[in-house]
Amino acid sequence: MTATDQAARTIVVTGGSRGIGRAICQALAAPGAHIFVNFAAAGEAAEETAALVRRAGGSATIVQADVAQPDAVAAMFKTVLEATGRVDVLVNNAGITRDGLLVRMKPADWGRVLETNLGGAFRCIQQATKPMMKQRYGRIINISSVVGAMGNPGQANYVTAKAGLEGLTRSVAKELASRNITVNAIAPGFIETDMTADLGEKARAAMVDQIPLKRAGRPEDIAGAAAFLAGPAADYITGQVIHVSGGMYM
Ligand code: NAP
Repeated sequence: MTATDQAARTIVVTGGSRGIGRAICQALAAPGAHIFVNFAAAGEAAEETAALVRRAGGSATIVQADVAQPDAVAAMFKTVLEATGRVDVLVNNAGITRDGLLVRMKPADWGRVLETNLGGAFRCIQQATKPMMKQRYGRIINISSVVGAMGNPGQANYVTAKAGLEGLTRSVAKELASRNITVNAIAPGFIETDMTADLGEKARAAMVDQIPLKRAGRPEDIAGAAAFLAGPAADYITGQVIHVSGGMYM
């Protein structure tokens, strides 16, 4: 892919409306790039992200789809393909938590987290790989979490989904490598977004204390790694999990 083609890529970011997803949309918003900003519920936030992408010189389209719903995911990729005819970069970032100790975890909370965080990525990858295989080019980036490797009490559903996402990353990387499609994951540590906003001041301080770099991460810290994995400098990297956690896991 030439440098001009690189700039003009079609990029789909699930959960691109807020937090880490928004920062990734901004980091990938080169002039000529067309970014599809996916969201489930917060359309206004998605519009704000789209405006930021346009300000950076890219094109942006917001696209509503609950990644836990197969029909919604299929419809989203239909929209993308009708608009640009290709998918060059897919970032599986959409994620939720429904925390609780295992003994009390409701089956619905187990299922919802698995279907969103892992099933959503599976469905989007399945849809995106068809055009990517034809193009003989694709960059897939899955947003995992440090807890996928570390485990975390109270998050059996979330941790299982993230550990599964890392296994999915490696298997699909092997399946698709011959088509010049790379599949990698980023495992963020403690990042300041809406997802972590409810943590009390004491718990936050205890969390930061466990981080060798002694600060919480910012969405931009993750976006930098995503831009690297989506760019030409990472053309020879596949099947890897990059931890961006201030050293929280090593
Ligand atoms: P966030 O601020 O809560 O944002 C979540 C995003 O996902 C929103 O754009 C949301 O859209 C979207 N989303 C949720 N459910 C969806 C669904 N069913 N279908 C489509 N989109 C959906 O979370 P974040 O902190 O940026 O997290 C982003 C990713 O990073 C997640 O996969 C998370 O597990 C991972 N991560 C975060 C941290 C952290 O410390 N923050 C650490 C490790 C990993 P709506 O607003 O429309 O629902």
